[in-house]
Amino acid sequence: MTKRPLKMEAVHCGVCHSDDWRPFAKGKDYEYHTSDDEFNMVECTSCSNVYLNPRPVKDELSTIYPPNYYAYNYDSSINALALKAKDFLDTRKIHSWLSHVSNPKTVRFLDVGCGNGRYLKMLHKLGVPKENLFGVEMSEEAIAGLNQEGYRGYYGRIEDVFEKLPKGSFDLIVILQVLEHVEDPSVVVKQLGQLLAPGGVLIVETPNTKSLDVAIFRQSYWGGYHFPRHWNLFSKETLTRMASESHLKVKEFNFLPAHTFWIFSFQHMIAERTKSAWLKEFFNPFQNVVLLSLATGFDIVRAKVGFATSNIQLVATKP
Ligand SMILES: [Zn+2]
Repeated sequence: MTKRPLKMEAVHCGVCHSDDWRPFAKGKDYEYHTSDDEFNMVECTSCSNVYLNPRPVKDELSTIYPPNYYAYNYDSSINALALKAKDFLDTRKIHSWLSHVSNPKTVRFLDVGCGNGRYLKMLHKLGVPKENLFGVEMSEEAIAGLNQEGYRGYYGRIEDVFEKLPKGSFDLIVILQVLEHVEDPSVVVKQLGQLLAPGGVLIVETPNTKSLDVAIFRQSYWGGYHFPRHWNLFSKETLTRMASESHLKVKEFNFLPAHTFWIFSFQHMIAERTKSAWLKEFFNPFQNVVLLSLATGFDIVRAKVGFATSNIQLVATKP
């Protein structure tokens, strides 16, 4: 069945707003097949940011994020054992975040793209009062649930709810696997900088285009492209630039396992080349625990010995 082509628009670089680019990659919506269109990733010749250009117009968001999108069905789309492992890793993750703040018990925390409030609830269990725990999410239902429980939930995109949030007041803001989806990441980072209290910490987790799996699958199949939903793809250089333009100081960069990108990269290549449904299902990063463990272990070892992975964490502070 042929699908209707998406309405698209040409855009400028999401980091430096330049219009000069060179081709970087071409690909399709290998994961959800929401259209048959071929998409272009381009590389900004002035700042090296990689971005989708042209990209779907805003009216197409409900098409490119279909109801079965994994983020909407997180717990049910992931293997139970993998979910257990995620609990363990997330507990470690939260403790590593808190190591950057001086008073973990009274931290004023904002999670941009908080989903069902997983991290807010984990922090509350560690003793942080609910009135200090803020979350922004595009699901009206998730936000209504959080507010009913006493958390501070805001429904919408961060750009839309920014004016309602208290400026200069957060000790810790996290934005995980979200910045690559937003319309103008340089604006969002500036807004987050304004929301931080002096001494506050911003933690960004996002795909990194300077890594081995990108080099191998760069032409089309790299899982991190997530065509056509990832609009800007960063690196140490472009993240540093956005942080400093937002008057934030880079404290550290860390490289996290990019297991789903590895597995999706193989899945896209194999599914496109063999058209085998069985092989495609085998390479399902949310279900195949053996592959998931192998890819995770591989990246953990690589990061330990000093290599970059394609999942980067920026820790920046507001002076
Ligand atoms: Zn640029």
